[in-house]
Amino acid sequence: LLEEVRKSEKMKVVGELAASVAHEVRNPLTVTRGFIQLMQHGRYTEDKKKEFIELALRELNRAQDILSDYLSFAKPQMENVERLNVATELRYVADVMSPYALMQEVFFENDLTYDLWIQGDRQKFHQSLINLVKNSIEAMPGGGSLYLSAIPLGACAEIRIRDTGIGMNSHQLQRLGQPYFSSKDKGTGLGMMVVFSIVEAMGGIIKVESQVGRGTVFIIRLPLVSNAAFQLVKDA
Ligand code: ADP
Ligand code: MG
Repeated sequence: LLEEVRKSEKMKVVGELAASVAHEVRNPLTVTRGFIQLMQHGRYTEDKKKEFIELALRELNRAQDILSDYLSFAKPQMENVERLNVATELRYVADVMSPYALMQEVFFENDLTYDLWIQGDRQKFHQSLINLVKNSIEAMPGGGSLYLSAIPLGACAEIRIRDTGIGMNSHQLQRLGQPYFSSKDKGTGLGMMVVFSIVEAMGGIIKVESQVGRGTVFIIRLPLVSNAAFQLVKDA
């Protein structure tokens, strides 16, 4: 029963949040439509048109950022729980993010030698790791190194995502994960909230250590699952 109550509370939060995200996306779309209508009906110089197009594109990028930080979190599809190899999924995320990292002169260092199995929804796990890695890259505007590791720790897999970036002060640490809290010009403030919810849903915990001007490490512990235990859960 407790589990059910918690679930319905969560659905409520997700529902409210979805409404507010929809609102956040509608604004840039309305602005974009406005510019396109202006160009359709008015006569403007090439320079003016170029300006409208740039503004419309900026607004569309905004809508895209909001959706990409949030997307798989709110996806109405059924949970698809699988056995996941932590190192494989981390390597995949490093690959996906490598063009973005390269652009900012961020280099990956990996320590992914263990075979650690957890269970969860692969897409959601990817989304949470991508949001974390993206933040780390964005915290290193002058380049730096991004260290990814996964080691066994008792009955858990311990993942570390460490950057040599700008770090966070106590105010930022305190507000981390609150919807719409962002210290960035074009931030959405949705990425960390999604990370916390997904890790919690996977039965894990997150710790953060950060020093202004030195960098940040996110430490995530997720319960390991044995092959036999997973079969039992699946067959039940
Ligand atoms: P956004 O990235 O859109 O700002 P997030 O929810 O992903 O929203 O992150 C919220 C805030 O947390 C960021 O704006 C930043 O202030 C802080 N933050 C998160 N990760 C890091 C990091 N690795 N280094 C420094 N600050 C971070
Ligand atoms: Mg982010």
